[in-house]
Amino acid sequence: MKLKKISLLVLFVLTIISCEKEKSVSVDFPEGIISYNYALGTENIQGQTPINLENAITEKISTKDLEIHYNSIILSSVQNTVENLKINLSDEDKVLNYITIKGLRYELQQFHFHHHSEHTVNGQYSEMEIHFVHKSSTGAYAVLGVLVKEGQTINSSLKTLISDSPDAIGISSYNTSFDLNAILPLQTNKYFTYSGSLTTPNMDTTPNQGPLTWIVFKNNITLTAAQVEEYKLKYEEDNFRVIQPLNNRTVYENN
Ligand SMILES: [Zn+2]
Repeated sequence: MKLKKISLLVLFVLTIISCEKEKSVSVDFPEGIISYNYALGTENIQGQTPINLENAITEKISTKDLEIHYNSIILSSVQNTVENLKINLSDEDKVLNYITIKGLRYELQQFHFHHHSEHTVNGQYSEMEIHFVHKSSTGAYAVLGVLVKEGQTINSSLKTLISDSPDAIGISSYNTSFDLNAILPLQTNKYFTYSGSLTTPNMDTTPNQGPLTWIVFKNNITLTAAQVEEYKLKYEEDNFRVIQPLNNRTVYENN
């Protein structure tokens, strides 16, 4: 009888603990980091990008409020900016490729590459990072970050882009179709998100404009060592900004 009572008590306590745990995981995208009502400015000195994304200190969320609506684009502007490879979208493609955060729409403007990555995950850099830059009709920005690691598997779409990059400063127009989904990682519902800034033009701790909503996917895509070398031959200079202090920001982790 006594044992039964203790077992019931243990069960009761465990139930309360598990309920508490479930209650603390929000199903809403955090309001405070949605940039939609803020055009870029300079009031975000304490909220700069990139940062170290540390699993141990993230606030866990479980939301479906981020939707990615990517299709195929026409490669009309593949640009070697000297600093990096940048693919600009035509006005038609901007309308057809967008994300929504809690129903708020941001259209894809361009995507570009960094070598090595700008964000670190648990202190570790990746070989490269791709930034998909989106803008809302209110002049606000949201960026999706894809980390690229060195691996055995070739991402053939990424290979095509690197091969298609002009060797020197300039723009190439191929007018071929390119599926954006092919360079997204698996499970795009798994990501880190926080409020940050642009990472240019200042590569040091001098503030850049913000605020903007950052979403960095937890899964990565891969390139072989030879492909990373091919990129580095065209873009010799590193183009990553130094890690910035988190200050009192919260980084959320969606699963
Ligand atoms: Zn960037």
